[in-house]
Amino acid sequence: MSDCIFCKIVKGEIPATILFENDKVVAFKDINPEAPSHLLIIPKKHIASMVHATEEDIREIIPEIFKVIQHLAEEFGMTQEGYRIVNNCGKLGGQTVGHLHFHLLGGRQMLWPPG
Ligand code: 5GP
Ligand code: ZN
Repeated sequence: MSDCIFCKIVKGEIPATILFENDKVVAFKDINPEAPSHLLIIPKKHIASMVHATEEDIREIIPEIFKVIQHLAEEFGMTQEGYRIVNNCGKLGGQTVGHLHFHLLGGRQMLWPPG
């Protein structure tokens, strides 16, 4: 997707603090952090949201994303105290960037319900 900001990050066309990359997944720091640690984990493939993920994506890419989340949580010292994983999906979910992404947030007390 040529006009997708996260595809541009994947291709290195706009800068981001990349924390992890393999053939399927990229992780980078959120530009506007909502917590002391706020990372975004995305598929390299443009998938607009969870609504748009195919069965193959669910089988091949989503598990890879969760593996990366678990490793990054460890690397960023979130494992002891805990963390939050968020996926905002569509309008009611509050999604603002139309490329599937998971937020990994840590370093402060999270509230529930999130509002
Ligand atoms: P959403 O609201 O769609 O779940 O989350 C989008 C997230 O992407 C927001 O937390 C926002 O701060 C982050 N974001 C938007 N544009 C950029 C960008 O160009 N670079 C980075 N690193 N994060 C971005
Ligand atoms: Zn994209």
